[in-house]
Amino acid sequence: MRQVDHFIAGGPTGSATRKHQIWNPSTGEVQAEVALGDAALLQKAVDEAKKVQPEWAATNPQRRARVMFEFKRLVEANKQELAELLSSEHGKVVEDAHGDVQRGLEVIEFACGIPQALKGEYTQGAGPGIDVYSMRQPLGIGAGITPFNFPAMIPMWMFGMAIAAGNAFILKPSERDPSVPVRLAELFVEAGAPEGLLQVVHGDKEMVDAILDHPDIPAISFVGSSDIAQYIYSRGTANAKRVQAFGGAKNHGIVMPDADLDQVVNDLAGAAFGSAGERCMALPVVVPVGEDTADRLREKLIPAINALRVGVSNDPEAHYGPVVTPEHKARVESWIDTAEKEGAEVVIDGRGFSLQGHEDGFFVGPTLLDRVTPGMESYKEEIFGPVLQIVRAKDFEDAVRLPSEHQYGNGVAIFTRNGHAAREFANRVNVGMVGINVPIPVPVSYHSFGGWKRSGFGDIDQYGMEGLKFWTKAKKVTQRWPDGGGDGSNAFVIPTMG
Ligand code: NAD
Repeated sequence: MRQVDHFIAGGPTGSATRKHQIWNPSTGEVQAEVALGDAALLQKAVDEAKKVQPEWAATNPQRRARVMFEFKRLVEANKQELAELLSSEHGKVVEDAHGDVQRGLEVIEFACGIPQALKGEYTQGAGPGIDVYSMRQPLGIGAGITPFNFPAMIPMWMFGMAIAAGNAFILKPSERDPSVPVRLAELFVEAGAPEGLLQVVHGDKEMVDAILDHPDIPAISFVGSSDIAQYIYSRGTANAKRVQAFGGAKNHGIVMPDADLDQVVNDLAGAAFGSAGERCMALPVVVPVGEDTADRLREKLIPAINALRVGVSNDPEAHYGPVVTPEHKARVESWIDTAEKEGAEVVIDGRGFSLQGHEDGFFVGPTLLDRVTPGMESYKEEIFGPVLQIVRAKDFEDAVRLPSEHQYGNGVAIFTRNGHAAREFANRVNVGMVGINVPIPVPVSYHSFGGWKRSGFGDIDQYGMEGLKFWTKAKKVTQRWPDGGGDGSNAFVIPTMG
């Protein structure tokens, strides 16, 4: 069976005491095993990182950028292979897997501009003969702990900025789809980075706790579910580390009575069901404003959802593939059970879905639930599957209140032709990322990404200039150069040539 090893100092370690199974979600078969590491393995990675990080930090930013450029070129050259590998372990269709790689690459492109981004600030003559300047210096060794649902994009969000800024980076990817992160680290070495600069350690809680407690890792970036995010934030900051920890989501799409419903339905088909709903920026809740809007929307949604094609992850015709594990399939189906018991109307039922020829795959059919209300557990919690819930709002105020009062505050969208309503909504809603007629409002790489409330713990966002801020510390220098005193013995002399 294929073995996925750690990637330390530019290569595999050949040591694994414990292992974790990697599924092929389309077939329901175990396709590989990944090694699970411990504190001793982490120590090896830290020792290797320490050997190379100071020289990397001292390498001028333009040379560091050249490595990022070459890495970008290599990822592009290997994109199809990366996308297929990603798709086979995650279950998302190959086209979505391309998107996963591409969105990560966009942060690498931003990181290629590191010489410009690191220029710092300067004030001449802040006092008599006094100048003040500030610079951003790397922290040393950064760590990233990432979720299963974007195994290329989220690691690149983190290590792109951390490494360009002069840090070494240790990545602990999800044990469910760990192969692409290792391939990315291999390509990074091929791009000319010193071995040990980007390393991958696999593992579960044992490895994560070792990272959280390691005295030589000053900063940790985490993306995953909210309870774990809060745990990472609490334990990491208790150890005096800088931590950003992004959690779960339940994003709402508000549909105003004047919205273009055909556009909304088209957008929802992708945003609610794409990648089997396993996206933190999916739109699993739609909030039509007024009963008439709700009825018109529902009428258009039903045929569109029934037309969705569920298939194996390398089926080029499929809209979405299986969910990631059998446990996750059971979990999604049990949320549909709960919703039904709570009184939601199951308009389209995806439970018990079986794909002919792939009966053991982890497929969940597209599901539409209507008359979901804010008191229901199935509304309050994240389902993370191909399930769309309709929550009917009385009016605009009700529609602003629903996402604002929800425990999660990652993303939200409003669909309307009314600029004033859109502007009011964007100003007032208590959510971190807002889309106006844009269903998945993931900001481009030169802005930054971050949700609010239980979707984000810590103050600094991912990537963009915020990412640079997270992975560096600011040094402020106040300087004065006296002319050497009255007798001229130490006076400033202009050097001459020859
Ligand atoms: P997860 O929380 O199960 O795992 C995330 C990481 O934490 C993995 O590397 C895992 O090995 C580790 N981990 C798991 N259990 C742990 C424990 N008890 N102690 C310490 N570490 C542990 O998340 P997941 O299922 O891989 O990913 C899906 C979740 O991630 C969803 O909730 C989704 O909304 C969220 N997510 C959020 C964002 C965002 O930017 N806010 C982006 C993507 C995914």
